Amino acid sequence: MRYQFQLQVSPEQAAVKEKLWKAVSKKADIPLSEISHIEILKRSIDARQKTIKVNLKLEVYVNEAFQENKIEISDYQDVSDKEEVIIVGAGPAGLFAALKCIESGLKPVIVERGKDVRTRRRDLKALNIQHIVNEDSNYCFGEGGAGTYSDGKLYTRSKKRGDVDRILKLLVAFGATPEIMVEAHPHIGTNKLPAIIADIREKIISCGGDVLFNTRLTDIIIIDNEVAGIKTLKGETIKARKLILATGHSARDIFELLHSKNIKIEAKPFALGVRVEHPQELIDKIQYKCETRGDYLPPSPYSIVKQINGRGMYSFCMCPGGIIAPCATAPGEVVTNGWSPSKRDQPTANSGIVVELRLSDFPGSQVNPLAAMEFQKQIEQKSWAEAGKTQRVPAQRLVDFTNGKLSQNLPVTSYKPGVTSVELESVFPNFIHKTLQAGFKEFDKSMRGFLTNEAIVHAPESRTSSPVRIPRDPYTFEHVQIKGLYPCGEGAGYAGGIVSAAIDGEKCAEKCAKSIKA
Ligand code: FAD
Repeated sequence: MRYQFQLQVSPEQAAVKEKLWKAVSKKADIPLSEISHIEILKRSIDARQKTIKVNLKLEVYVNEAFQENKIEISDYQDVSDKEEVIIVGAGPAGLFAALKCIESGLKPVIVERGKDVRTRRRDLKALNIQHIVNEDSNYCFGEGGAGTYSDGKLYTRSKKRGDVDRILKLLVAFGATPEIMVEAHPHIGTNKLPAIIADIREKIISCGGDVLFNTRLTDIIIIDNEVAGIKTLKGETIKARKLILATGHSARDIFELLHSKNIKIEAKPFALGVRVEHPQELIDKIQYKCETRGDYLPPSPYSIVKQINGRGMYSFCMCPGGIIAPCATAPGEVVTNGWSPSKRDQPTANSGIVVELRLSDFPGSQVNPLAAMEFQKQIEQKSWAEAGKTQRVPAQRLVDFTNGKLSQNLPVTSYKPGVTSVELESVFPNFIHKTLQAGFKEFDKSMRGFLTNEAIVHAPESRTSSPVRIPRDPYTFEHVQIKGLYPCGEGAGYAGGIVSAAIDGEKCAEKCAKSIKA
């Protein structure tokens, strides 16, 4: 027999099998000897009260053997002689679009400007150590897309649980830990994602799909408002009547290409600010309300949202036990973001702290669809210039930042290329700077001790989402003017993270298949 029920236990009981079984036996009034297995279905930490609890949803097997339900990869078919669909971008949107094409009996041809996930690492090293930015291979570009070397957080605001579970199941089938199906806030970690991505690629190729690395799309061939194919930087032409464009939020040349071809795009509001780093111990102390977090609690995350002078200011992509990464995609700019290994075992915690921007903040946005992108670019270039024209970023201690005071010295931070002490007022437009200054004081009211000079502010955190939307028909998902063009994922404005991009990739492929079959 099996029973499902919810239980609140201590972190130690949740972590130590014998203790959990005892707690279950007591709570459910089932003799320990009759319990044959306990399966954890959902787990979340409740740190709101002084005593921290772990909420568990359990399935208890009583005198019944447990059979592991291994998640199988759905039956992908050989599509080598089927109609080709070009998918530009091998991020989560592109990769999951390709898998869905195969399921739907179409041959995906993935065109990716960057390198395979393994070779890409060398360019990340050059970026971190020699400050060399390769415009095709960096933290945003290359196999796996922008989230490959990330924290691999897999939660999304998507309301459709079924869609989310499907993506998580596929990730498990391709090698992710089954724990991601259980945790309330699952994450994979930088050390684990690349192997999963490589497995997805191998599956695509083994089914007859093509994956072309080092292949940058430079033009879209359009005849009578319909897609006919693409041109690449190598001078090749690839013909197809369907094109899924999943190039991410940093492919500025794609936005410029579309604009130059009079293909409708729109300026889109996004958020921008800084990346702040604290000692992880301090965040644990604040969040868990204890001196040390002990053996059974994970490094604590945090999430804060405030309204400052009528604008939203919030934490974004918080990485417990993580590292700040140089995420520029072109020389002459600096950009920060964060990642962490699966164990989140680095001594520092970092998070983007960003201010909500509106279309009216971008000069010329009524007439220029690239206005938000230009605004973003200017701040990244200014930061680059202020910090010394390398991949060093301008930085300030947090209390100094709120007081408008240049920091006399800066401790070593996790940001490998290094930091330069700069009064960040010189980097940001006044309204962003003032909002951040006031907002950090408000943050401290929610998390006492957050506002400390032990924390370092790095600038800028600017690639939070796409500054451009590529409009598509809400039913067919085709571009509003161009038949056969499917704007997809984060770059087109339809996703905000790994899971939502993967969901959008699947949806675009489904729409594409439906249109071909019709
Ligand atoms: P992308 O992943 O950006 O992929 C676009 C792909 O298109 C890239 O591989 C690029 O090389 C390729 N491309 C671009 N232009 C061309 C061209 N002209 N020709 C051919 N190919 C082209 N999200 C989360 O949900 N959780 C996290 O923990 C998380 N952490 C992150 C950490 C970092 C450091 C970064 C940079 C991002 C993080 N994100 C995270 C955001 C997440 O990565 C993105 O939301 C997601 O990858 C978007 O997927 P996508 O497929 O739409 O685009």
